[in-house]
Amino acid sequence: MSRPDFPIALSIAGSDPTGGAGLQLDLQVFALHGVHGSGIPTALSAQTTRGVHRTLPAFPENVREQITLLIADMKPHVVKLGMLATDDVLLAVSVALERWGLPRVVDPVLRASDGAWLLERRAHGNLCERLIAGATLVTPNLDEAEMLTGERDPERAGRLFLEMGAGAVLVKGGHADGAPDDLLLDAGGTTWLRGTRRDASPHGTGCALSAAIAARLARGEALRDAAGAAKAWVDTAIAGAVPAGGGRPLLRLSPAPEPVIG
Ligand code: PLP
Repeated sequence: MSRPDFPIALSIAGSDPTGGAGLQLDLQVFALHGVHGSGIPTALSAQTTRGVHRTLPAFPENVREQITLLIADMKPHVVKLGMLATDDVLLAVSVALERWGLPRVVDPVLRASDGAWLLERRAHGNLCERLIAGATLVTPNLDEAEMLTGERDPERAGRLFLEMGAGAVLVKGGHADGAPDDLLLDAGGTTWLRGTRRDASPHGTGCALSAAIAARLARGEALRDAAGAAKAWVDTAIAGAVPAGGGRPLLRLSPAPEPVIG
């Protein structure tokens, strides 16, 4: 994809009022990459930096209508999917996106770090068959990879996502010795993206990584370049993490301008 004059990314995700994860974080990440952010909430959550208190799914028919009307009016270059809450919301999203064939980054959000479910279990089959199949990229962490494929080995799990029909897979935190390295797999082969081990485990790192990749794809960057640069950018945000509330720290995000060529 060449660089659009006004890159647009659409996040379809859950609302996190802290701004540390979910839709609110995605829109900040897009803006810091010079990408216009459109957003459609799939659920409201009552949560703080200490954890998720309660979630309320959106009305599926309203989600479908928002997506249909928005895309017909203002087509995004990339769609990023995060928390989808229920099978009915997930189906509404897949039906609404079906006819557009837009590149999509799927963050298969199943559970928050505090254990709260962000997608009901009965939706796992449709997540694989309707959204991961045909995705440009799917970004599971090891727990999500295991829950969706039955495999914890990052390479074997990654291959199963490719067999499901994903174009590429980024298995996060997949290194055997616990290093925060991510494995990128596509038809062209496998690449390890190295991370730096840190004590802090800020809120929203998975959302930030998939949003940064989506923003870079919207800017016209190639997938491998986008994933490598996004990983380094999130690593810096983790290094600067701030104890903004009483619970987990938030990422310290910074502008991610495009390199000046020439
Ligand atoms: N809330 C929303 C809306 C999310 O999308 C996510 C993660 O994707 C979380 C909470 C949980 O974030 P964490 O994994 O940092 O607990």
